[in-house]
Amino acid sequence: CGIVGYVGHQPSLGVLVGGLRRLEYRGYDSAGVAVIDGAGTLNTHKRAGKLGVLTADLASTPLSDGTTGIGHTRWATHGGPTDRNAHPHLGDDGRLALIHNGIIENFAELKAELQAEGFEFTSETDTEVAAVLLGQVYRDTVDESGADGKGDLEEAFRRVVSRLHGAFTLLAIHRDQPGLVVGARRNSPLVIGLGEGENFLGSDVAAFVEHTRRAVAIGQDQIVAIRADSVEVTDFFGVPVESQEFEIAWDA
Ligand code: GLU
Repeated sequence: CGIVGYVGHQPSLGVLVGGLRRLEYRGYDSAGVAVIDGAGTLNTHKRAGKLGVLTADLASTPLSDGTTGIGHTRWATHGGPTDRNAHPHLGDDGRLALIHNGIIENFAELKAELQAEGFEFTSETDTEVAAVLLGQVYRDTVDESGADGKGDLEEAFRRVVSRLHGAFTLLAIHRDQPGLVVGARRNSPLVIGLGEGENFLGSDVAAFVEHTRRAVAIGQDQIVAIRADSVEVTDFFGVPVESQEFEIAWDA
């Protein structure tokens, strides 16, 4: 329902939780975050209930923070509002975290295929299927890359979105790729916020308006990769697209 992504120089949890708070007006039943910390570990926490449930946990048991992260508030469509069904969902044996707005209509077929290949699932959501599939495809890009043992998250996204039917905004981070958030959208909104040495993604501009008034709309069927100093938008085939920057008019 609500989506925030951040890469930059600030501790990411504050940016993510602040953004989720500004998106609360949309309604939700669960909330969660994933960050890559300074040691390159992926840390995640998610809870059913209001954002206050999540932030109380984070206050009593702090998550090791970094400067790359994603945050989500969920409006359950597939699987009840439980801790396990809350986003982020994990792929690639916990090395990758993914959040999703919308519905993946062919999730049951994809899940059956992945289960037949031995993948296990911990939730009833359509979203976890996208996370596990992205992890599997990311592993293929690692195998193709040769020596450095790292894959290509943007290429993995391109391969995965072609297999998904329905409506989705997806954001993901991978521990092999600190400093990168990749997103994709089809029939569901996603906007970039441009900062100085930091960039943002949001399901709407409310997610980052506290930090910047410079935004870029992402078109239908496009993939975006944000890093602290760059923003790249392509279509689902990797062809770069021109996008228009606009000023956010907002009385905050
Ligand atoms: N279909 C997903 C789920 O039920 C995402 C719902 C949403 O847009 O928040 O988990």
